[in-house]
Amino acid sequence: MRIIVQQNAEIQNNNTINKDVRLPVYLYGHPVLRQKAEPVDLNEPGLKDLIDSMYTTMYESDGVGLAAPQIGKSLRLVVIDATPVGDRFPECDGRKMTLINPEIEILDGDKVCRAEGCLSLPGLSEDVKRVEHIRLSWTDADGNSHSEEISGFLARIVQHECDHLEGLVYVDHISPIRKQLIKNKLNNIAQGRILPDYPYRTAPKRRR
Ligand SMILES: [Zn+2]
Repeated sequence: MRIIVQQNAEIQNNNTINKDVRLPVYLYGHPVLRQKAEPVDLNEPGLKDLIDSMYTTMYESDGVGLAAPQIGKSLRLVVIDATPVGDRFPECDGRKMTLINPEIEILDGDKVCRAEGCLSLPGLSEDVKRVEHIRLSWTDADGNSHSEEISGFLARIVQHECDHLEGLVYVDHISPIRKQLIKNKLNNIAQGRILPDYPYRTAPKRRR
């Protein structure tokens, strides 16, 4: 999830998994963003390096959350560091979490409308209705299990990222009328006509 004003960043193209290197962010229209992601095996070699490189990718693109499908890995893995919005949303302050195989239980069905952005949908921000009180269960990078009640904007970030694991993006939650209004923008992203200032991968071109 991206909500911070963008900064100028050097564009690199590097597709290898390296903890010091940014990974390209897969953009809206790429089929990997529509797949239901697979559970993570904690013994998978290279998992910690993958997590490190996801943090690097998130920080360098001014995100506060990134899900593995967004870097082309269809895995149930999310990194979040909500610290940059901690001054506006105190529940976010200092919250850095690696979510492996996360599960969400909705504790309060009342929905709140707030603006969201996404690294996979550059240049777009839309109001999204979501619940703001959930129970989140997850495993961290050291293999420890956690279960915690989470609310407010942090609950929104978690839901946004966990949607990616189900093959959903935030514009799936907006009204059909609103979606019709931004149809051209969505097409432009899917066809590589709107590009971000961080490394990216566009949807494969359709064959004629
Ligand atoms: Zn997103």
